[in-house]
Amino acid sequence: MATSVGSARAARTRRKLDEQDYWRHWRAVEPEAVACCVCGSTDTEPFTDAPMAPGDVVRCTTCSMVFVSPVTVRGLDLSPEQEAEAERLRTSSDLKDLDGCWEMQFLACEEARSASDRDYRDVLERVREYVGGRGRMLDFGAGWGQFTAAAAADGWDVVGIEPTPGRALYAREARGLDVRTTTLTDDLFPAEHFDAVVSLQVFEHLDDPAAELDRIIDVLRPGGILAIEVPSVGGRPARSMSRHTLAEVVEPRYQELFELVLEEIRSSGLEEQIAAGIVLTGGTAKMEGAIEFAEDVFQMPVRLGYPIGITGLREYVQDPAYASVVGLLIYGKDMRTQQKKAVAARESVGGMVKRLTSWFKGEF
Ligand SMILES: [Zn+2]
Repeated sequence: MATSVGSARAARTRRKLDEQDYWRHWRAVEPEAVACCVCGSTDTEPFTDAPMAPGDVVRCTTCSMVFVSPVTVRGLDLSPEQEAEAERLRTSSDLKDLDGCWEMQFLACEEARSASDRDYRDVLERVREYVGGRGRMLDFGAGWGQFTAAAAADGWDVVGIEPTPGRALYAREARGLDVRTTTLTDDLFPAEHFDAVVSLQVFEHLDDPAAELDRIIDVLRPGGILAIEVPSVGGRPARSMSRHTLAEVVEPRYQELFELVLEEIRSSGLEEQIAAGIVLTGGTAKMEGAIEFAEDVFQMPVRLGYPIGITGLREYVQDPAYASVVGLLIYGKDMRTQQKKAVAARESVGGMVKRLTSWFKGEF
């Protein structure tokens, strides 16, 4: 199977954790096939190699859902002392309780930490945009509280939930956040409580994501925002593409498109009649250089068309991307007006016939 840059990094993380004997805490159970959480099928095909995954990453052959199956490591294998320690951590407010705790090994692992510490401004900006400001937020699966902290600093009234006691304790005491050691239970928050629920790199760990979704929907206000982020399959990080690379891909597509249009214009016999040039509109016409490129292909003047004849919401719809929508709305409105006029005309003709009839009747 192919190994990507992302999985090489995950392999390094795994090696470091192996060195620390991190996995001794984990209980390996007999490999157990997992059914697809979307369609229930157990018919899968190999998908990718992910060294950090607790089993093979497979794709459902019925619905294409990607998940881990069979799962060979299912949970923490804690000794009675460790169980007692976990219980203490659950309610502890003393960071010293974390000393020697298995979760701290992971935090201490530079490789793992650098993978989870990141700039959350893009996430927060998008959530703000959809919510239309800030409000009450739930960080679903808060981990060490990295995102919870960023959201709090951004002005959100944020609470996190994290089932792993050491992580939740760290988030509370080292970062001063409201992070509770728990999963999302039915009575934890009032219904429709949050404006936004954000879940970063959590859903891929859930046994029953559909059931968790139901619980999230309950605590989310109508119209609230749910943001879920899962890793890119194969562990590939998000990539930025250079404008040059993008242009190399896009230019031939535009050329193809414009040539098809030109062919259409020629076969319709209208080419000679287009004296004033061509108007391009729609979102793709806004691409930098598209107009100049179209002039090259069409060999005539080309301009960008904006929707016209609109009032209200102008700052939003005064954009070539909305030209089709605005055009259809105007067309629909005109059609309606014309239909009304036709009905009114029929009615007035009918009325006149009636009046004439009664006039005749009265006279004769
Ligand atoms: Zn499926």
